[in-house]
Amino acid sequence: MGEFDLIRRFFQRPAADGAEAGVDVGIGDDCAVLVPTPGARWLVSSDMLVEGRHFLSTVDPARLGHKALAVNLSDLAACGATPRGFTLALALPRADEAWLAGFSRGLLALADASGCPLIGGDTTQGPLNLCVTVFGEAPAGQALLRRGARVGDEIWVSGKLGDARLALEVFRGTVALDGLGLETVRAAMECPAPRLALGQALRGIATAAIDLSDGLLGDLGHILAASGVGARLDVDALPRSAVLAAQSPALQRECLLAGGDDYELVFTAPPGAVLPDVGVRLTRIGVIEAQPGLRVVDGRGAAVEHGLRSFDHFSA
Ligand code: ADP
Ligand code: MG
Repeated sequence: MGEFDLIRRFFQRPAADGAEAGVDVGIGDDCAVLVPTPGARWLVSSDMLVEGRHFLSTVDPARLGHKALAVNLSDLAACGATPRGFTLALALPRADEAWLAGFSRGLLALADASGCPLIGGDTTQGPLNLCVTVFGEAPAGQALLRRGARVGDEIWVSGKLGDARLALEVFRGTVALDGLGLETVRAAMECPAPRLALGQALRGIATAAIDLSDGLLGDLGHILAASGVGARLDVDALPRSAVLAAQSPALQRECLLAGGDDYELVFTAPPGAVLPDVGVRLTRIGVIEAQPGLRVVDGRGAAVEHGLRSFDHFSA
């Protein structure tokens, strides 16, 4: 199977090409040709997944395909964007048909479910490496950014936190889980659900937003730094699964505060704002304050010493 057969067989879907709303030309020419919506702005984001760094070689290829797109759609969700299409740059050690079939099935299933067609890419031989670039749109001036949080705003988070980190600890061998507990946390790590409907519904309501990829402390810290404010965060309020709640208090805090790969949205909104109901649980976890820095407290308001940091690829 040559390079072009591979692209045609696993990534190009003739029915969708050109028939997709807003895509004049998809896979197969030198560029994709997209139709901009009048009055909208483009929102563009890339995320790379490297074997051994972001995933293990043993991961189910369909779940890897899902995750490669999901982590990118999560960035669009954080900005309140509507997905319009994505490209895939793929380095593969060899053309393994069973692997490619699973990978493209997981990838394109999420693409269909999100209204985000695959419109192009690049395919090369090399160590397994996946880079997705997503293109989305939002009405001019309505993208959710990190820099809008104001003193007195409440801090909210979607879904539950920490399960992906708990799964990582199971694979590292520091925590033992099996059966349904293991499947729950493993699905959180391998199959995150990008919060697209929530992000779009928060346009005009949230004052700032970010998606959680590297851990709550660091990611919320990005909102604080960009907005020039501080915050108080109630660690006991953080939403968690029953599986995580059964772990030691120290491990729970580590997974909740510093665990990566949650892909939930953290956002700020003025007190009393009417928040959208899109079927995703929202939990109030803190408040924006004028004093710079992030103060972690327990449910009684007492300071919590944690010594935790978010993930950073280049920190020692
Ligand atoms: P060029 O050499 O002109 O850059 P390529 O030969 O790399 O084009 O790709 C041929 C077509 O296939 C292009 O439309 C490109 O966007 C698409 N393509 C290549 N690899 C992928 C991929 N992994 N997924 C989707 N489309 C791809
Ligand atoms: Mg070309």
